[in-house]
Amino acid sequence: MKLKLNGWELGIGFSACHFLPGHDKCNRLHGHNYAIHIHLTGDLDDTGMVYDFVKLKRAMKTVADELDHCVLMPGKSDNVIIVVENSQVNVSALGKTYSFPECDVNILELDKISAEKLAQYAMKKIIGQLELGSNIQKIKVGIDEGIGQGAWASREL
Ligand SMILES: [Zn+2]
Repeated sequence: MKLKLNGWELGIGFSACHFLPGHDKCNRLHGHNYAIHIHLTGDLDDTGMVYDFVKLKRAMKTVADELDHCVLMPGKSDNVIIVVENSQVNVSALGKTYSFPECDVNILELDKISAEKLAQYAMKKIIGQLELGSNIQKIKVGIDEGIGQGAWASREL
């Protein structure tokens, strides 16, 4: 049986800005409204459920809140150099430089801030918050970058 939680319909998402160095258009700093989704496949447990919707929504919301209204920066990129100094984040990428107040920036352990990489990131964070029993077979976490386009990460459990 499959549980499906849709971030757009549940109001679980975040607004954030990012850039993709080297991309013709997305190399400029810009923003999106993102939504987080979950599909969870498993057998019913003793309570007649696959998993508690409340706990799933809480985990999704925690990730959304962490990323909301942030400048997202790739902390593991080879071509984005990030230096944090005096509460300021200075970023150099392919000849461009940016400077942000540290409180506005979330430096993620990713090499790129793409929907695909954010889906992998969100899945890891969500799995870390859940106690998935042996009845759960698969989790898929989706990140939509605006309505109609998104990326899904999945893991067999
Ligand atoms: Zn973008």
